[in-house]
Amino acid sequence: MFKDKEQFKKTFNDRFVTMHGKGIGEATENDVYQTLASMIREHVTSDWMHTRETYVHKRSKQVYYFSLEFLLGRFLYNNLLSLDVLGLVQESLRELGHELADLAEEEPEPGLGNGGLGRLAACFLDSLAALGLPGHGNGIRYQFGLFKQKIVDGYQVEVPDNWLKNGNMWEVRRADKAVDVPFGGHVWLEQHGEGYRIHHEPAEIVRAVPYDMPIVGYQNGVVNNLRLWSAESPFDDDEFLDRNKGNYKDLLAHKQSIQTISEFLYPDDTTYEGKVLRLKQQYFFVSAGLKSILQSHKKRNASLKHLGNIIAIHINDTHPVVSIPELMRILIDEEGFEWEEAWRVTKSVMSFTNHTLLAEALERWPVDMFRSLLPRIYMIVEEINRRFCKDVLENYPHLEKHMRDIAIISDGMINMANLAVVGTHSTNGVAQIHTEILKQREMRYFYEMFPLRFNNKTNGITHRRWLMLSNPLLSERISEAIGESWKQHPSDLQKLVKLAKDRQLQQDMASIKRENKLRLAELIKEENGIEVDPDSIFDVQVKRLHAYKRQLLNALHIHSLYYRLKEDKSFKMVPRTFIFGAKAAPGYHYAKEVIRYLNALATLINNDPDVNKFIKIVFLENYRVSLAEKIFPASDVSEQISTASYEASGTGNMKFMMNGALTIGTLDGANIEIRDEVEDKNIFIFGLTPQEVMNYKKYGGYSAYDQYSSQPELRRLIDSLVDGSLFGVGEFRMIYDSLLTYNDEFLILKDFMSYQQAQERIDRVYRNPELWYEMVICNIGKSGVFSSDRTIKEYANAIWNIKPVQV
Ligand SMILES: *Cc1c(COP(=O)(O)O)cnc(C)c1O
Repeated sequence: MFKDKEQFKKTFNDRFVTMHGKGIGEATENDVYQTLASMIREHVTSDWMHTRETYVHKRSKQVYYFSLEFLLGRFLYNNLLSLDVLGLVQESLRELGHELADLAEEEPEPGLGNGGLGRLAACFLDSLAALGLPGHGNGIRYQFGLFKQKIVDGYQVEVPDNWLKNGNMWEVRRADKAVDVPFGGHVWLEQHGEGYRIHHEPAEIVRAVPYDMPIVGYQNGVVNNLRLWSAESPFDDDEFLDRNKGNYKDLLAHKQSIQTISEFLYPDDTTYEGKVLRLKQQYFFVSAGLKSILQSHKKRNASLKHLGNIIAIHINDTHPVVSIPELMRILIDEEGFEWEEAWRVTKSVMSFTNHTLLAEALERWPVDMFRSLLPRIYMIVEEINRRFCKDVLENYPHLEKHMRDIAIISDGMINMANLAVVGTHSTNGVAQIHTEILKQREMRYFYEMFPLRFNNKTNGITHRRWLMLSNPLLSERISEAIGESWKQHPSDLQKLVKLAKDRQLQQDMASIKRENKLRLAELIKEENGIEVDPDSIFDVQVKRLHAYKRQLLNALHIHSLYYRLKEDKSFKMVPRTFIFGAKAAPGYHYAKEVIRYLNALATLINNDPDVNKFIKIVFLENYRVSLAEKIFPASDVSEQISTASYEASGTGNMKFMMNGALTIGTLDGANIEIRDEVEDKNIFIFGLTPQEVMNYKKYGGYSAYDQYSSQPELRRLIDSLVDGSLFGVGEFRMIYDSLLTYNDEFLILKDFMSYQQAQERIDRVYRNPELWYEMVICNIGKSGVFSSDRTIKEYANAIWNIKPVQV
């Protein structure tokens, strides 16, 4: 693409002038970014078209990943790496007086997801393209991504993320591919020969306009597609004004009400809010996606009878589950299929991933709401439910007494998780323990009926973004030690394991870590005005703020260290920098209180000369992908301390491991598989087991008050939340009550002592750098299985039945 630096620079200069109509001497960083991105986009575009043609030509089966969230992060570095021009571009720009890293900061960040679930979707797209698999994304082009977080006087403040205000260099609007999506209105049947014909007179029609983003494969010429839908009015302004007799205000109101559908990502993945609009979003992107997929496949394939051999659709969590009745509707109402045939085809196309065991996240829609928004779809759901319940009564009569739990419609609600299992050929969990709990607890009756439908696909992360790009120093040193093959085959990282005792390698790992910590320290200085010591242990907990993730356990432990340092002159510890990053859902009051507590501790500790030589607390605001990329490479300790059995998998844990941080964690989610890889001696495990937690939840027997009254140290900590000794009187009453009045739902007090002991083990091991870095090397070496390339190969082989395509 670019022959050499001279050619790049010449093209760049020419392009700059044409794009900006001024000399390069007047360039802003943003002008330069736009110029560079447009050059890269041009190269991507030809591969993009070529890939599309190849898939058609080879009649490859294609998978579509339906997800309400894609937490993409920035594209520039990724695309440069994928096109194999990162080095050349970086050097050429430097010669022109620009730092690539600074230009990259100009790119608006597509934060179209909340956390792990959305980031997983983004890692999967990256792996699909890298493996040359025909796989595409389908989602919503939110005008506002997840809110930006500011911390003001310790409080979280939410600011809208207007990420599109300066345009998006990585998207192409495809107005020619727009489709209409109907809502509301009424449905009637008309006799038609032997059968009936369905008519739907919608109350509202929304035009879905796709914006396509190229997903560039790693140095393989493959460019897949991420199609994000935007909601627009189906009418021209004049047309609307004609129909409505020239009322301009109505026009604006009409447009506004339609655009709302793709305006916001719901920042609340767990609670009850903005319900109707959310259902509208779900049907909107699912219906538009299906229509556009079927349109393009119908052009080439005579019949949809074997649709399951041509396409696969994956349902990421319950949000896109309405795609099941929507495909049924298309096959029956538009393609003239009989029910049984349509049902067979639908199940063969669809597969489903469950992401959480949290009861409040399992979606249920009130029948009335669902029926009035989607009248025809509701009829189909009712029929699916009728047939399913009949099947249960006939073939599994002993399950009749559990009908309320397993029916798709019960108690006036539609249970989307049940519909998902019934209407697909595959349901998977995202880590071994999670899948086991699904089979044994949440979905045990379904498991009994459809044992072969259930399977596990342990999550993964793309090692390209999370190691090669975010940690170039470490990547280079790994390649020096074991060669480059791990970039294509991340499992080759295990060649490091036998080098774990290599002194030189250990020392180099230590100096790379120190270098990365220095860079993060600079960022912390800029952002928070806090000086942190790069020789202290960087102990990091970054993830969404949620009670089950137990940021509070971490906070209470730091609080206990504060007392020890204040009062026990003989107490010694390796200095630590505790780093947090976490957004709380705007309506999640408790989570916001934990943020306030963390910031109060930070103020207390960072300003106390008795303790601030040993402890610093840093709360980095606005945790997001681009910040994460700077944090993982600089971390020594990875905090994965959820209440056992509550974290489905976690993926942050994998990013830390791959960057040479050691895990302190409970036996939860993928921590268990990390432990299995590295063995107990290379990880700091503590706390109750999943079984012990589940027993408490099932049989009771836990008393937070007993913990509180039997451990004086703990008692004092908890009292100080409200007694005015450190903070205002009653200041953290809500947290205090969560622990004592509401009996500590997440068993924080029960695990406190065990956590403290694990932290002491970390302190001891860190004093022995040879042992510490031996463990670090072992962890990096064993991290290859957590590449999403491994995960995606498993989905491709066992669920989607798709094959790599040579482009
Ligand atoms: C990886 C990632 C997550 C998920 O973190 P967990 O620790 O698995 O909850 C959330 N947000 C961002 C920005 C991430 O990169």
